[in-house]
Amino acid sequence: MLLKKRSEPPEVFQLESLIRRIPDNHPTTPHLREKLRRITAGFHGEHRVDSLWQEISLSFPHFLLHDLFIQKSQSSHQFDTILLTSHFVLVLEIKSIVGQLNFDPELRQFTRTNKDGSVDGMRNPDDQLRRHERWIEQFLSQQRVKLPVIGAIVFTYPSSIIQSRPDKRLMIQSSGLPYLLEQLVLTYPENVLSSKRTQNLARELVDLHTDKPLKMPVLPAGFVKGVLCDTCVGVRMCYRYKKWSCPTCACIDPYAHLKALQQYRVLSGAQIRSRDFREFTGIESTSIASKLLMSSGMSFDGSFKDRIYTIPESFNLADSIWVIPDSIFEIRTVSSFNGNPL
Ligand SMILES: [Zn+2]
Repeated sequence: MLLKKRSEPPEVFQLESLIRRIPDNHPTTPHLREKLRRITAGFHGEHRVDSLWQEISLSFPHFLLHDLFIQKSQSSHQFDTILLTSHFVLVLEIKSIVGQLNFDPELRQFTRTNKDGSVDGMRNPDDQLRRHERWIEQFLSQQRVKLPVIGAIVFTYPSSIIQSRPDKRLMIQSSGLPYLLEQLVLTYPENVLSSKRTQNLARELVDLHTDKPLKMPVLPAGFVKGVLCDTCVGVRMCYRYKKWSCPTCACIDPYAHLKALQQYRVLSGAQIRSRDFREFTGIESTSIASKLLMSSGMSFDGSFKDRIYTIPESFNLADSIWVIPDSIFEIRTVSSFNGNPL
């Protein structure tokens, strides 16, 4: 039973939002694009492995938990996948890395050799998995449960060539996941926990999950503020007649500021005041800015003047109130907005 699904990493939307607000020829653009490519490839790889579970059937109680993040006071654990069963616990570390891969057992170094001969040093997935295994073992011990804990590294690309491997570590290509499960069922035939106890343990793990804190990026010089057109790269929309319109392609969107708010959330933080909103969107009128903020349905703290709104992860348009009195029905253009860095 799937108890926790995997979602797209928030860094993807953050990087996409940042990249579309800095010029293509900016020195940081290639680095940001590469980071986005790497995170997206990792997510797609994990997603491909997730789909393999549909081919696997187990005859005893089992629960799948994907993308579990557990924050402790001094440390954190991010589990790619945990399969908690009444026979054993399987912990997967999923890697989407192309090239020739080497584990150095003495230095504990993990490297990838590229086609051009260059070598990249990377975090050692064997050590990552050991940490995760130890944490799960401690968790089970606190629950007075004795279940075998097995960790496996799963490589998602057939072009990942393992040249040397750490001793005793289970490592497979993703296509081998059904075979691995067959072997584990044969190795651990004993039913250790009842169905109810297995389910309770899985739910306790899910209850420990928190969203991973998103680190705000440093906004580079040349960063473009404003409500951007979805179609025209880097073009700021103008707010007039209660709608946002693009001066280049003439498209109209009454909700475009909500998209800008979601981008603000991942670039500058979830809290926003009216003056921050005006500065970011280029709306000059305090009354129009206040009406747009109030009509967005965002929760807020503070009095009218010092009100701080909390931007949600997503907007439900049904919660927004799109009745803006004619008294503030002013024409404001932000076409002259100069896009100074925040
Ligand atoms: Zn446009």
